[in-house]
Amino acid sequence: MTKKNNPVRCRRAAAPCTFSFKPYSYVEGGQRMRYRFCPECGTKLTYKKAGDDGLVPFCDVCSRFWFPSFSSCSIVMVVNEYDEIALLTQLYQSDKYKCFVAGYIVPGETAEETAVREVREEIGLGLARLEYAGTYWFSAKEILMHGFIGYASKKDFLLSTEVDAAEWVPSSQVEGLIFPDRPGNAMHPIYRQYMLRKNSSR
Ligand SMILES: [Zn+2]
Repeated sequence: MTKKNNPVRCRRAAAPCTFSFKPYSYVEGGQRMRYRFCPECGTKLTYKKAGDDGLVPFCDVCSRFWFPSFSSCSIVMVVNEYDEIALLTQLYQSDKYKCFVAGYIVPGETAEETAVREVREEIGLGLARLEYAGTYWFSAKEILMHGFIGYASKKDFLLSTEVDAAEWVPSSQVEGLIFPDRPGNAMHPIYRQYMLRKNSSR
């Protein structure tokens, strides 16, 4: 507990980015996401019982609870009619591993709408169909990832400035090219679900 924090400063932005993948880091992450000062008025929060949720930070001035907050992202594995998967190179993330389309959910948007928008923005494709593939807690960045499998017709990509390259890769070759399979990495579970669904529909 430090006293030097500016009351209106976002604590998450000030927290060091520890690039670790810990499967059970909710408590640790929850501490970092917990509000200590009211984001509206800056008053130091007290704790008040909020039903089944127990003690929750509370602003006596605004008379409201401040539950721990976190960001949400949609991540989409895009597949075409030839069983090829769109893999993106984003050098700001890695020059070694490839990734799927992903982006933050903005207020007012559903996870599905974000998925469709991000695929359009990042690689210039429209999706014919979207399948839900579960949620994943990315502890390194404290983000809830909403996983999807998106189906699109094979076309050339139209890349955004965020994407350095993209390619269609046969699904059987994907596992070795994407970020390694660790807790917190949503890509492998989404990929495995696609492979299972593909094989069970044959
Ligand atoms: Zn307040």
